[in-house]
Amino acid sequence: METKLRARVAVAGAGAIGSAVALTLARAQFDVTLFDPAPPGDNASGVAAGMLAPVAEAVFDPVSTPHLALLRRARDLWPAFVEGLDLPILRDGLRVEGEAAWLATIAARFEALDAPFQRLDGALVDAEDWRIEARPALAVLKTAFEALGGRFEPRAFAAGDLPAFDAVVLATGAGDAAGLTPELAALAPIKGQILRADRGPATGPVIRGEGVYIAAGESPAIGATMEMGRGDLIVDPSATEALRAAAIRLRPELAQAVLTTEVGVRASTPDGLPLVGWSATPGVMLAVGARRNGWLLAPLVAGLVAAYLKGDNPGPDAASLDAKRFSRT
Ligand SMILES: Cc1cc2nc3c(=O)[nH]c(=O)nc-3n(C[C@H](O)[C@H](O)[C@H](O)COP(=O)(O)OP(=O)(O)OC[C@H]3O[C@@H](n4cnc5c(N)ncnc54)[C@H](O)[C@@H]3O)c2cc1C
Repeated sequence: METKLRARVAVAGAGAIGSAVALTLARAQFDVTLFDPAPPGDNASGVAAGMLAPVAEAVFDPVSTPHLALLRRARDLWPAFVEGLDLPILRDGLRVEGEAAWLATIAARFEALDAPFQRLDGALVDAEDWRIEARPALAVLKTAFEALGGRFEPRAFAAGDLPAFDAVVLATGAGDAAGLTPELAALAPIKGQILRADRGPATGPVIRGEGVYIAAGESPAIGATMEMGRGDLIVDPSATEALRAAAIRLRPELAQAVLTTEVGVRASTPDGLPLVGWSATPGVMLAVGARRNGWLLAPLVAGLVAAYLKGDNPGPDAASLDAKRFSRT
């Protein structure tokens, strides 16, 4: 794209990625319109636990294991990204609890990654992982975007909107982006169900046990299922029963909790990293496919999108996230 000041950019999708992109572009003086037909927070980003957790992801999600350095760089962008926003970063870290034999396998994974951890009262403790409150964060990002003059359109972006803009950034998550680009064929849905409890730890580290995590808060989050290939939002108690049982083993008081189920669909590429950059379709840029790490990666993805639009050097992570890496013949 020919770069010019005040280029008109559409951002399709107001999840974590689209909201971060829209705010970053507005901060960089682009003329930005953000589109989303869904009610605020009615997406994967709204149901997410909000963990900014490079270490836990590398340890517990084998697809993310090779990406620890990149995930750490993404986390390190957060303090500057939230500067001036009412969006606190919770830095209580991670606590892994469980049977000795299982803990030994987890400790071995920390060691293999050279990730620092401590043993404390029979648990493994890591201070590196952070968290935010996801749903409130979406509202904060949108407010900040609009305060900079950004416009929000409560409808879907469609191919017919393209001529009105110099570029569109597709941040449509697992949504159907109306056949706008061939690269989206690399994405597969992963349904995630997460429980919200009416009691449990209000503050403190994310607690991980075998097959479950508990993220503290006003309504602690107990997550999350990984249902490969499923893109529906149907609540299925048979899929969450194992989560509930595992959470109660960690914190027995949760047996009395009233639990509400929320469902989101993550979009994933084969290597677990998002597609970021220009599509083969002229004027279309991709910012999709962040798998389990859409919040963690949001500022990094937004920075890359801004660099591409400005014609700047996109930096060391551009090649790993190249939007066309699965569609080159
Ligand atoms: C249960 C669960 C827990 C999770 N926990 C974490 C976590 O702790 N930390 C973390 O980093 N990640 C977590 N994730 C992953 C994270 O939620 C996703 O990676 C992230 O939400 C992806 O953000 P996104 O903006 O790409 O997509 P989404 O949040 O899905 O947003 C996409 C938006 O695009 C809109 N849209 C679709 N089509 C169009 C169109 N044509 N025009 C305009 N808008 C359109 C949709 O309405 C939607 O609002 C979790 C996910 C789940 C399901």
